[in-house]
Amino acid sequence: MAGKNYYDILGINKSGTDKEIKQAYRRLARKYHPDVNPGDKSAEAKFKEVNAAFEVLSDKEKRRKYDKYGDKWQYADQLDEAARQQAQYRQYTTGDGTSFHFGGDIGGMDSLFDELFGGSRSRGFSRRSQPRRGQDLETNVEVTLEEAFSGSSRMINLQGEKPCPTCHGTGQIQNLACSTCRGAGMIADIKRLEVKIPAGVNTGSRVRISGKGQPGYGNGPSGDFYLNVTVAPHPVFKRQGDDLTTDISVPLTVAALGGEVQVPTLKGGKLALKIPPETQNGRILRLGGQGMPHLSKSTRGDLKARVNIVLPTNLTEKEKELFRQLGQLRPA
Ligand SMILES: [Zn+2]
Repeated sequence: MAGKNYYDILGINKSGTDKEIKQAYRRLARKYHPDVNPGDKSAEAKFKEVNAAFEVLSDKEKRRKYDKYGDKWQYADQLDEAARQQAQYRQYTTGDGTSFHFGGDIGGMDSLFDELFGGSRSRGFSRRSQPRRGQDLETNVEVTLEEAFSGSSRMINLQGEKPCPTCHGTGQIQNLACSTCRGAGMIADIKRLEVKIPAGVNTGSRVRISGKGQPGYGNGPSGDFYLNVTVAPHPVFKRQGDDLTTDISVPLTVAALGGEVQVPTLKGGKLALKIPPETQNGRILRLGGQGMPHLSKSTRGDLKARVNIVLPTNLTEKEKELFRQLGQLRPA
């Protein structure tokens, strides 16, 4: 409501001190108090105005916002954020030519004001503003490599808004700002949503939940909600794209003569791996199709086993004798 200026209501000027504000409030509150003016509707309205003005101007932070944004002071944080995003958007689009998309289209401050305050949403669905898509929202999630392997899910809080039930979205009750929504017409609305994170995600993957961003303006479609995925490092497996790498211990005799070892998998099981004769330390053996799933295909990457040859320790006399004989056959 483009109501009266709070400073005018209290009869002080913009540079008025806290003390002046308090004095003016006390004087006017006494003057218009309903007990002093029984049954006087206009005094009652004045009394409410004075209280509303005092609530804002007596609070340092609220007053700062009011001085900056006037009637729209309750949206100061959103407006500051929008201005910041816009500045950033401009910076990105004019910098090195790379265009960053901030979701929705970011119009000028004028159209933002229009959306927030003049358009169909806060004032009785008048359809004055052009239909526009709502802003996209995003949040960050971290998953384990096991979760990235098998797929998982997360509960997400979606913060939206809905028409105020007290004033039915008009922001006013009998020409005064609605106290439930403070005149905004909309109140916060938090929904819990379970989001599936598909198998195969990697750090940098974005999971899109269509239509769960901010509601559109003037019958425009809602934005989308994005999860920005980070996959936590794993102590045993290293990931390169869709391939996994792990170190396997191979006894010296198996490396020399060939044999079989067990390779751990992300699912917790083990796979048998053939070691060819004369396998060198550091050699990589592939287990085809045992790596990470691809996000969009049904195939999987490979599991790469890096051979780590283990020399025997605590040699017996007989073993030492055999190594001596080997040494004589193959002098350094
Ligand atoms: Zn309301």
